[in-house]
Amino acid sequence: MSTNLKFIFSIIAIFILGITALLWLYIGSLKDLNIELKNIESNRHEMFLKADELRQGSDDLTKFARMFVVTGDQRYKDNYHNVLAIRNGQANRPKNYEQIYWDLTEPSRSLSHPPESKKSLQESMEQLPFSDDEYKKLALSVKHSNFLAHFEEQAFKAMDGVFIDENGQYTIQGVRNQQLAIELLYSEKYLQVKHSIMLPIDEFMMMLNQRTKRSINKVNEEIDQLFTNIFISLSVASISFVGYLILMLKTLHRHYQEFKTLSRHDPLTKIRNRRSFFELSQQILAIAKRTKQPLSLIMIDIDNFKHINDTYGHIIGDEILIHLVHSINGLIRESDIFAHFGGEEFIILLPETDLSGSVELCEKIRTYIENTIFSDDKVSVPFTISLGTSQLQDEKLLRELIQKADAALYQSKSNGRNLTT
Ligand code: GH3
Ligand code: MG
Ligand code: MG
Repeated sequence: MSTNLKFIFSIIAIFILGITALLWLYIGSLKDLNIELKNIESNRHEMFLKADELRQGSDDLTKFARMFVVTGDQRYKDNYHNVLAIRNGQANRPKNYEQIYWDLTEPSRSLSHPPESKKSLQESMEQLPFSDDEYKKLALSVKHSNFLAHFEEQAFKAMDGVFIDENGQYTIQGVRNQQLAIELLYSEKYLQVKHSIMLPIDEFMMMLNQRTKRSINKVNEEIDQLFTNIFISLSVASISFVGYLILMLKTLHRHYQEFKTLSRHDPLTKIRNRRSFFELSQQILAIAKRTKQPLSLIMIDIDNFKHINDTYGHIIGDEILIHLVHSINGLIRESDIFAHFGGEEFIILLPETDLSGSVELCEKIRTYIENTIFSDDKVSVPFTISLGTSQLQDEKLLRELIQKADAALYQSKSNGRNLTT
């Protein structure tokens, strides 16, 4: 493999590696952001459930306390204490407690919600990433909830005929007072404390939703930015890569054109070489035969060129060759095919030209060369050429036409040179 190709492949390999590494990094970041989004959502869900349990628990306590004082049914009092025990981590927490629990009857309740480990609401709340302000709201609600429990205890005691003294102790023994118990749990004061439990929960939920929304927006913005970066990186990379490829292709094309020109032209005189002459002339011969147009050919050979080389050196010899080509180029038509045949011999194919026209051109060239002395800074070299020409008759091959002209050229040489035959 050429060094050039190796270089191109290295560039492509580096490009592909670079893009892969870049995409790898981007995908890594995207994954991280996605995990962050999921965490935010699941934390929000967990925290919302805890706040809801606080609200639901408080409602259940009120409900069972009121049902007990109205009906005197011991089962409601038991439920009341069970709600408290689960919440304080003294009793096992039922599975999926946040779903429907207390309104189910047995055995469905125990079947759907078997007991799990003991864990107070407070304890499980502490494990969640509440903000300080959010935690304060919930703590306030819990505090008020404990305060409400005193009312409920007072009502339960009244049902047993036990009453509070001025020191806040249950020392006064009397008769069961259901009316007082009911009044306590439906009083304006009770409703106010209930309000003070629920308001912080409501505020907490609002805060939580807002904070979550902000976090989600922030992550989404980062994801958008990441996609923009991916788009820009890929665009820049692709454009540079395509630019590089175009440059490479242009260079290759230029090399190819140069190679093609070299392979078809004589490096010294820059006119067609023999191979290119044959390629083109075959076609012209075929056209001439079909259209029955005349076609002629001229062979040219410098006279005594060996002697010129020997006298003035090969460099001068070469310059004379270039000078000859220049001269002939100025005398022939655009449509004539002029080529270097080999050594100091040249060939011209003349489409739509008969022998008299061809002889006329030969003489024009011959006299021109005869009358123009080649000269550079140091030497002046007069030289002549001999020419032989032929017209296409019924020859089938180009080679035959060339042989005829070559024979004529030989004739010119034999007859003393500087001649057209
Ligand atoms: P004649 O009149 O019979 O043609 O004599 P001549 O000396 O020209 O004989 P011939 O055509 O056989 O010899 C051609 C010589 O031209 C031989 C070689 O030294 C010289 N020659 C061929 N090609 C080149 C070339 O590209 N450059 C130079 N400087 N000399 C060349
Ligand atoms: Mg010769
Ligand atoms: Mg010669």
